[in-house]
Amino acid sequence: MPDLEAVRTQLEARLADLLAEAKEIDAELSEPHSRDWEERATESEGDEVLEGLGHAALAEARRIHAALTRIDEGTYGICVSCGEPVGEKRLEAVPHAPLCIDCASR
Ligand SMILES: [Zn+2]
Repeated sequence: MPDLEAVRTQLEARLADLLAEAKEIDAELSEPHSRDWEERATESEGDEVLEGLGHAALAEARRIHAALTRIDEGTYGICVSCGEPVGEKRLEAVPHAPLCIDCASR
């Protein structure tokens, strides 16, 4: 079983990095919000500052949010698809991985 507090600290640090990066980009951007973004932005708090990020970074931030929620709910490390353990090695490589390697490679 991974050290959940250590994982949480790691995930929160990564999320803070992404948010800081987003704020920098946001300050440089002057484009109006897209309608699509406005709709998605209501899904989770803090997302509004993430709009400047690319899709990959945005997706990572969402996965980190989700992983932090799973830590809170006590389901961290359990594959969200099949319910089997994600695997310690995989979590070490990708702490916010929601799927076990079998489901992820499907
Ligand atoms: Zn699975």
